[in-house]
Amino acid sequence: MGLNLPLNATSSPEAVQRLGVFGGSFDPPHPAHVALVESALDQLCLDRVHVVPTGQAWHKTRALTDARHRVAMARLAFAHCPQVVVDEREVRRAGPSYTVDTLKALQSEYPQAQIYLLLGDDQRRSLPAWHQIDEIGRIAIICAAGRDVAVRAWNENLDLPASPAKLTDTLQARILTLNMPLMPHSATDIRVQAAQEQTLTGLVTPAIERYIHDHHLYRPL
Ligand code: ATP
Repeated sequence: MGLNLPLNATSSPEAVQRLGVFGGSFDPPHPAHVALVESALDQLCLDRVHVVPTGQAWHKTRALTDARHRVAMARLAFAHCPQVVVDEREVRRAGPSYTVDTLKALQSEYPQAQIYLLLGDDQRRSLPAWHQIDEIGRIAIICAAGRDVAVRAWNENLDLPASPAKLTDTLQARILTLNMPLMPHSATDIRVQAAQEQTLTGLVTPAIERYIHDHHLYRPL
């Protein structure tokens, strides 16, 4: 009789039935990223989550911090989470990082798994503009967490990415909501704080704060 042990990042791909995929710049990773993944692991009963730092984000105009730093910080952020794999495929891939390519690759690596694509509310709103969004919706169930900044932007009529089209009703119906308290964290705000040499305590973990300090990230040259 099997022992029914929980799966972790070293379990074989065949054992993974429910796979989460969480992409982002992670420049730097912050507690809301971790809370989102922990909520998804719990609420969606995921066996594993691939955290995928983006290579060249097609939808972000700013130059991202060197991928090796973002990957290293993602590893620090999720070090306590045995089910998380920090997946470097997008930073190794040349050209723009399209989620659909990552999902197709993961689908062939985990043919038996249901894939859940995890994201925050700002990204949910921009979904109609995503490359091959219908194909994404065929491969994965999309799960969105509320995001404080999106709510704030909505209330204050700030500039969120425009949606050139709407999602189909079928796709819209497949989007699940993750239950997570709204968290104010934003990597943009953290980079601003760091650039002004202000403390990052409470905005990132001590290990990431140390990493940012030791590598002089986000500071003016
Ligand atoms: P930046 O400020 O540089 O745009 P960010 O804080 O939005 O960065 P990303 O790495 O771009 O962080 O986000 C990765 C994913 O995490 C996205 O799906 C985003 O919506 C989600 N996310 C980021 N911050 C929050 C938050 N505070 N609450 C919920 N989801 C979040």
